[in-house]
Amino acid sequence: MSSGRSGTGARPYRRNRATVLANDDTCHLCGHGDARTADHVITDKDWPRGPDGRRLPGFDDPANLAPAHGTMGNQELNPCPMGCGLCNQRRGSQPLPQMDRRPW
Ligand SMILES: [Zn+2]
Ligand SMILES: [Zn+2]
Repeated sequence: MSSGRSGTGARPYRRNRATVLANDDTCHLCGHGDARTADHVITDKDWPRGPDGRRLPGFDDPANLAPAHGTMGNQELNPCPMGCGLCNQRRGSQPLPQMDRRPW
């Protein structure tokens, strides 16, 4: 970190996505390989927010990203080769099914 804050909107998602996918290309939603997009494990909707309503840091960290099939953002599609389709888009902003929903 050389200079304090860089402009807003420059999220580290792209770089962290590359890191995540370099380690593993197994879709965390269907368990098949060849995933080339990264899904937010905890979605924007469920990410904790500070008193000012802004997301707490870490949303785009590799720890909150997991490989998934989906849209690549430039209209290129990365569907599951086993026929599951676009796992990320099918999930939408739903919590992960394997995560226990806490009764808060
Ligand atoms: Zn998948
Ligand atoms: Zn699949």
